Amino acid sequence: MKTIVCQEPYKWALIESEKPTCQQGEALVRVQRIGICGTDLHAFCGNQPYFTYPRVLGHELSGTVEEIRSEDTTIKVGDQVSIIPYLECGHCPACRSGKTNCCSSLKVLGVHQDGGMTEFISVPADHLIEANDLTLDQAAIIEPLSIGAHAVRRAKLQKGEKVLVIGAGPIGLGVMAFAKLQGATVAAMDMNKERLHYSKNEIGIDHTVHAGENTINELRELFNGELPETVFDATGNVHSMNASFAYPEQGGKLIFVGLVKDNVIFSDPEFHRKELTLMSSRNSTKEDFLHVKQALESSKVHMDGFLTHHCHFQEMPIVFEDWLTPESNVIKAIVEISN
Ligand SMILES: [Zn+2]
Ligand SMILES: [Zn+2]
Repeated sequence: MKTIVCQEPYKWALIESEKPTCQQGEALVRVQRIGICGTDLHAFCGNQPYFTYPRVLGHELSGTVEEIRSEDTTIKVGDQVSIIPYLECGHCPACRSGKTNCCSSLKVLGVHQDGGMTEFISVPADHLIEANDLTLDQAAIIEPLSIGAHAVRRAKLQKGEKVLVIGAGPIGLGVMAFAKLQGATVAAMDMNKERLHYSKNEIGIDHTVHAGENTINELRELFNGELPETVFDATGNVHSMNASFAYPEQGGKLIFVGLVKDNVIFSDPEFHRKELTLMSSRNSTKEDFLHVKQALESSKVHMDGFLTHHCHFQEMPIVFEDWLTPESNVIKAIVEISN
């Protein structure tokens, strides 16, 4: 079978590799769509922390089940599926409390071990989500959307709650879509005006704020003199994260969805004055995958315009570098394998 390997930063190789065998408890999946995200771009450019090479990337995956060796699942051969790429240990304190997304020895396919830029992959059978009623493209974007859905679930949003999402990239757009689904009033903030237009026109958020000097006053104008109760930062930018403490209302919440290698710095008196709740949100769980699947199936969330770029598997190593440039305006690129 054909596999694309990232051999070292800035170097792809299309190789012939051995088709994996399906072990007990696993399912062999014929991979058909691979979503590309920031993690892949960082890995390719050599600035993903704790990353080792060579590595087969790809963690946003959909395909069809070829073989299954598990009795504990309703998934059958021939089913179209989305793969949960987070391989948890199942017995650490986080796993025991259902927080498999932050397992202490979590291995993510395509990050810590070889992922799905290949024709076949064998994965634990309980890490598949049946997706027969979705398109293959939709099934592949369950994973990136589930990260936003997880952050929204952590925030326990109430209907009518005032929400600000900072960063209108793929993860931020997912946060916005699932905050809207919870009935929140959502404002998006970004430096990129096109992304703000997209948030309003495609995701249907209520307000947009161009990130800049006067954002606090602008937010107050949008929210009847008040500040948002809940703020999500999905920028992965330390300056934005440091500044984000100013945006929630008294008693509000701040959720860091994006992460940085740096230290986040904030004023404790300000933090205490507001009695803020600060949370991080990392990856997602099976529950979030199922929530996203249902939202896509019932068309409560539309993300079709989110898929801006497509290419065939064999051309991926050639077109990939174009996706690194801001001019390409990539929101989400999808690699197709027609095997
Ligand atoms: Zn991703
Ligand atoms: Zn664990």
